[in-house]
Amino acid sequence: MPRDPRFDILFEPVQIGPVTAPNRFYQVPHCTGMGYRRPKTLATMRGVKAEGGWGTVCTEYCSIHPSSDDEPFPSASLWDDQDVASLALTVDEVHAHGALAGVELWHGGAGSANFYSREAPIGPASQPAGVWDPFQTRAMDKSDIQDLKRWHLAAAKRAQRAGFDIVYVYAAHWYLIRQFLLPSNRRTDEYGGSLENRARLLRELIVETKEAVGDTCAVAVRFSASIGGPDHDQDTAEPREMIEMLGELPDLWDITVHDYSYELGTSRFVPEAGLEETMSWVKGVTTKPVVSVGRFTSPDTMLRLVRQGVIDLVGAARPSIADPFIPNKIDEGREDEIRECIGCNICYTGDQTGTPIRCTQNPTMGEEWRKGWHPETIAPKESDSSILIVGGGPAGLEAAVALGKRGYDVTIAEARRELGGRVSLESRLPGLNQWARVTEWRLNQIGKLPNVEFFLESVVDKEQIIEFSPDYVAIATGATWRRDGIGRTHDDPIRGWDGPGVLTPDDIMAGTMPNGPVVVYDDDHYYIGGVIAEKLRKAGLEVTLVTPANEVSTWTTHTEEQHRIAQRILLLGIVVETGRSIASISEDSVAIECVFTGETREIAASSVVVATSRKPNDGLFYELVDEIKITRIGDSLAPGTIATSVYSGHSSARELEAELLVPVPFRRE
Ligand code: ADP
Ligand code: SF4
Repeated sequence: MPRDPRFDILFEPVQIGPVTAPNRFYQVPHCTGMGYRRPKTLATMRGVKAEGGWGTVCTEYCSIHPSSDDEPFPSASLWDDQDVASLALTVDEVHAHGALAGVELWHGGAGSANFYSREAPIGPASQPAGVWDPFQTRAMDKSDIQDLKRWHLAAAKRAQRAGFDIVYVYAAHWYLIRQFLLPSNRRTDEYGGSLENRARLLRELIVETKEAVGDTCAVAVRFSASIGGPDHDQDTAEPREMIEMLGELPDLWDITVHDYSYELGTSRFVPEAGLEETMSWVKGVTTKPVVSVGRFTSPDTMLRLVRQGVIDLVGAARPSIADPFIPNKIDEGREDEIRECIGCNICYTGDQTGTPIRCTQNPTMGEEWRKGWHPETIAPKESDSSILIVGGGPAGLEAAVALGKRGYDVTIAEARRELGGRVSLESRLPGLNQWARVTEWRLNQIGKLPNVEFFLESVVDKEQIIEFSPDYVAIATGATWRRDGIGRTHDDPIRGWDGPGVLTPDDIMAGTMPNGPVVVYDDDHYYIGGVIAEKLRKAGLEVTLVTPANEVSTWTTHTEEQHRIAQRILLLGIVVETGRSIASISEDSVAIECVFTGETREIAASSVVVATSRKPNDGLFYELVDEIKITRIGDSLAPGTIATSVYSGHSSARELEAELLVPVPFRRE
């Protein structure tokens, strides 16, 4: 289909200093958990984005010098010529598709602890370094500032040699240049104190970088349009003054906001275009092009912001991760096929755990080089085999789509009246409605595949499957929350678990409303305990959240939302008991036990919702394993995140009757 002419403006070229972006689709720098450690994995992934139509594709943060590393979080680096060669791989992949390649030069200053190099971190003053790490920086003297500028210029020149078109001066987030910009920089020399002094380092770096590489490279500045404050990140007075001062110096302003958990906000807390209010003034104070992000997945939102003059370039990290082919899909009039980001931030957990990026919606993300997976193409079928998939949750649906695209005949049998499995249920919990996109995209795809059919309200058993006689069966029947409390903390059932007031997340999602007061026991530690507590509190119950961890929903630190969850829980008036397990449950109370001292006390509770671990629904698999070619996928294999279910469904479909790229599961660098 031809492109809807409404969207023509998104495909206009944009001049950025000495270079021209072929369109307005701009993949801003984003971490990948690959960095300097996995250059081929990185290059191939970035190349796929360029292939998908992103006119500009940037690297992640790229350390300019060994005086700053961010280990265990993997960053790129441009310390020497070896790094030039490895980042040139990315540049070449991006250029091969006619896109511009950008590099985000980075120095962490007090933002990194230098676990790798063991060099003392540097900062505008002697101040705490890293996150909760027991180190401080060495205060930079004048010669350190000169050194920093030298390192930055040397890295910029290396970037130019690697072939980059856009070189960043990175003055946002909690890193070195921003540390100079903030009011907390109280240096008494010309680099601290007054606003002009605090902005001096940034000014000098922009001017000198332009002098050094500006003949062939655009110089971009990543900058925060706010400095936080009590008014919900709306304190924009100083950033505005700074852009008024520096506005015409760089070739491009890449604008973000102060609060990273808002910039990278999950859909539970931040809507699409969430930064708009904070940064919409920027184009009024500079004539240079402006790019910003906002988890844009709707072409209409992109169009509105460009038309209204809020941005010139549509910045994206997550939308380009969930669907590297958004620009091409808009260009080809296939907007309905955009695989929309759900705002879960599983992608960010890669960086946070020091592992390659993965995505709930896009199972090929991070697998482009090591498994040879492509988000839009898949090998055709090897035979005329038929496949029965039992269960239409994320694993079953993803397997059906991928197998269907390969050309196999696929039948899904789903017990419930709707497809989507846990996603359909969980997306009805407070704040999680965008997760339904996991199901919606797959249903849209299935609608276009005549060789995939599904049957609802079809609980299939062993005899029916044998009678149906498919060539292969994939069991995708999910998992069930345990009622007995066994999990990370409890090896044995909790005393009293079989009482009438004991419920599980499955019960709550099926519509059971417990009697209050209610205890939610979270030994799962991701989102489910916190979100169930939120739901019950909003229904008017007195709620106590008990967890053996030291903070609520502790794994959500990796999705950059833990403190927002904690804030919401406290503001709702939910009582929080951390560092406590449940020792026993009785009719109108539970005994909670301190995990450190063993001290117990009773709290009133008419009901307890137990979120500890899940049992795979694998009965059918074991009944049939000796009789038919059968496999388990998703939660029925190993309960995990929605992302692991989608990945499991996808890999089982890719690998059916296929030869693997290498005799091990994936290629290594
Ligand atoms: P996953 O994340 O692995 O996809 P889900 O729990 O989300 O797992 O989905 C499993 C789906 O399987 C649910 O929609 C459930 O209704 C369905 N299901 C479970 N047992 C059967 C069965 N015997 N026959 C058909 N469908 C089943
Ligand atoms: Fe979006 Fe989640 Fe994929 Fe990240 S992991 S890109 S937030 S769908």
